[in-house]
Amino acid sequence: MEYFSTRGGEKVSASLAIQEGLAPDGGLYVPARFPAYSIEEICDKSYVEMAAGIFSLYLREFSPEQIAEAAVNAYLPNFPKAVAPCVGLGDTGVLELWHGPTAAFKDMALQVLPRLMKLAGSRCGNDRELVVLTATSGDTGKAALEGFKDVPGVKIIVFYPKDGVSATQELQMRTTGGSNTYVIGVEGNFDDCQTGVKALFADAGLNRQLAENGKQFTSANSINWGRLLPQIVYYYYGYSQMCRAGRVELGAPIDIAVPTGNFGNILAAWYAKKMGLPVHRLLCASNENDVLTEVLTTGVYNSRRPLLKTTSPSMDILVSSNFERFLFDLSGNNAEMTAQWFRDLRESGRFTVEPPILAAMQEAVYGGKADSAQAAATIKKVYDEYGYLLDPHTAVGYTVVEEYWRSHGREYPVLLASTANPYKFSQAVLEALGLHVENVRETDMPQLLEDHTGVPIPESLRQIASLPVRHNRFCAKDKMRDTVTDILRLA
Ligand SMILES: *Cc1c(COP(=O)(O)O)cnc(C)c1O
Repeated sequence: MEYFSTRGGEKVSASLAIQEGLAPDGGLYVPARFPAYSIEEICDKSYVEMAAGIFSLYLREFSPEQIAEAAVNAYLPNFPKAVAPCVGLGDTGVLELWHGPTAAFKDMALQVLPRLMKLAGSRCGNDRELVVLTATSGDTGKAALEGFKDVPGVKIIVFYPKDGVSATQELQMRTTGGSNTYVIGVEGNFDDCQTGVKALFADAGLNRQLAENGKQFTSANSINWGRLLPQIVYYYYGYSQMCRAGRVELGAPIDIAVPTGNFGNILAAWYAKKMGLPVHRLLCASNENDVLTEVLTTGVYNSRRPLLKTTSPSMDILVSSNFERFLFDLSGNNAEMTAQWFRDLRESGRFTVEPPILAAMQEAVYGGKADSAQAAATIKKVYDEYGYLLDPHTAVGYTVVEEYWRSHGREYPVLLASTANPYKFSQAVLEALGLHVENVRETDMPQLLEDHTGVPIPESLRQIASLPVRHNRFCAKDKMRDTVTDILRLA
């Protein structure tokens, strides 16, 4: 399988696409075509079998044994109880994607990516040290740190917005072990971090300096194809579980709802549909930062607005990188048009798609939003009704599903991607349940929530309270380059 950039250019191998992350022209790598993956025997397959099967279709240059080994090592030891169980709440199947080491769905891909990068590196004959450069709104950072920690020939540098992540998320990152991990709090928001990281990737002088020192940048953000590919798998798996549970007949369509930030997770569901998963429509759920709801309603993507802080910080994003891949697809792989849209976005903070593209977009995806108060009300309602705790991101998704049912009727069963364990966001969940937290230290909140609900804290989160803080670096948003050259001793 070959890959090309959403902004044109030469075709490249999967290995190169995964090693580079971002294409040299600033575009994102997409596969030349989407192979079919049959649902016929889906109910007999384990998660690992499904993962190996789907990876093989896109990574023809690796042997089936290499791929199977990567899937086994990623999912068996690191998801000890279950990889992605699906819990039924009424007509909704809640696909719990947070049973990995960091309790958010990013583990599903970031336990695989380092293994794919290693295969890709030996394939390309590349012996440079990889420097994984990552901007995080909270969950990617820790998941990437855990995935790449102590991997030989790799350093990982994570930038997070100092006041834009939850106390648990920050503590998770700053207590990370490993001799190759670097964590930096940026005085700015997530978009500042992401813009800063993109500028470093595009910095020709810096890249030359790296090469002279035997190093090379790569990305663990969802712009990397190696992160998107593993996410396709769990939509198939979720569907198989809905079939097994008798919620849907094999072959009958479902809707898939995804709480969305960078449009990566939901794009993987779109790709699953292109491969043959029976999906009627995708429900794209946003919080107050509702750029996606707006573009899906009006055809105008407008990032010129303040970034609002919400209780679902991993969705506090105004520039959704992976939306570019979706638009490229809907435009019929029109690289010129795609490049123009994203040039407009960079230069004027907005772009407009033509009516036929808007219509295609709306056919594929419904855009809805829920604010923090609505998400809180949903957390309370679902807890009262089912004794089940939703995290604030998944609660945004659940709220949009209910709103969609009200406006469109309840035609298809819904698979809802549950993107984080509620204990990553204990304060918001406690407040949603009506508990008073004014005098409680943030680090004590998970225990309070457990005492109140009896829902167990995941082991990985229970441990961090007693781990030493190892990372104490902070920087201004215009000093990210200096920080990197300092860490890599390039200055
Ligand atoms: C990253 C994240 C999201 C958003 O996922 P995208 O792929 O960026 O759309 C939603 N919820 C949680 C908990 C996350 O960590």
